[in-house]
Amino acid sequence: MPFPALFVSHGAPSAALEDDAYTRALGAWARGRPRPRAIVVVSAHGEAQGPPRVSSAAHPDLIFDFYGFPPPLYQLKYPAPGAPDLSREIAKALDAAGAEPVLDGVRGWDHGVWVPLLLLYPDADVPVIQLSLPVPRSPSSMLAMGAALAPFRDRGVLLLGTGGVVHNLRRLGDGDGALPWAAAFDEWIAARLETLDVEALQGYATAAPHADLAVPTTEHLDPIFFVLGSRGPRDRAVGVYEGFRYGSLSLRSFALATP
Ligand code: ZN
Repeated sequence: MPFPALFVSHGAPSAALEDDAYTRALGAWARGRPRPRAIVVVSAHGEAQGPPRVSSAAHPDLIFDFYGFPPPLYQLKYPAPGAPDLSREIAKALDAAGAEPVLDGVRGWDHGVWVPLLLLYPDADVPVIQLSLPVPRSPSSMLAMGAALAPFRDRGVLLLGTGGVVHNLRRLGDGDGALPWAAAFDEWIAARLETLDVEALQGYATAAPHADLAVPTTEHLDPIFFVLGSRGPRDRAVGVYEGFRYGSLSLRSFALATP
């Protein structure tokens, strides 16, 4: 049975300090199954020019790539190890798929990596490898990246994408209710996840309502295609959390799992 793959909409970095239905749902998901052997994560905040970069340091640092949040957020630690041997295997698999990956022993983990991982695996005892979000890329190139790494799920590795189904910081609303255009897009995605209609999901930019507002830039949505690319024939999308912050940030999170 393959290990599930997971997409987490990560919201604001301050989630790392919060205890609410969203943070509890992520922790409960992780506690509800065996620990993965390692985690391979693609973050919305890990864009890098060129082909995918595979983190390969034994102990990558954290990057505090956000501004204006409470001081305690900048004190957090996530001392999980890297897994340099597995990084090389991941790079080999991506290379075999034609992705021309590069090992990166320098860059640390951005908050799109360590904030969700603090909520999922607070003990920081599972090795973590980050893959950059390549530039340029497309939904189909992200699907291919996920497909290339799908066999690692059979070895107990968690493939994780973190970003956001709806993410528009220029159109924030009040409170935690969704703005109507944001809800329409989020529901369109949810309906196609329900049937794992990846073909339709790939075409969201022209087919989904208000895609221009929901996805003004693609970096928060693209990690979803990495996760979907790893799907197996018996996988289903299983909801982990759904809800909104500030009207235009969807926290919809789901796992791909074989029932
Ligand atoms: Zn983000």
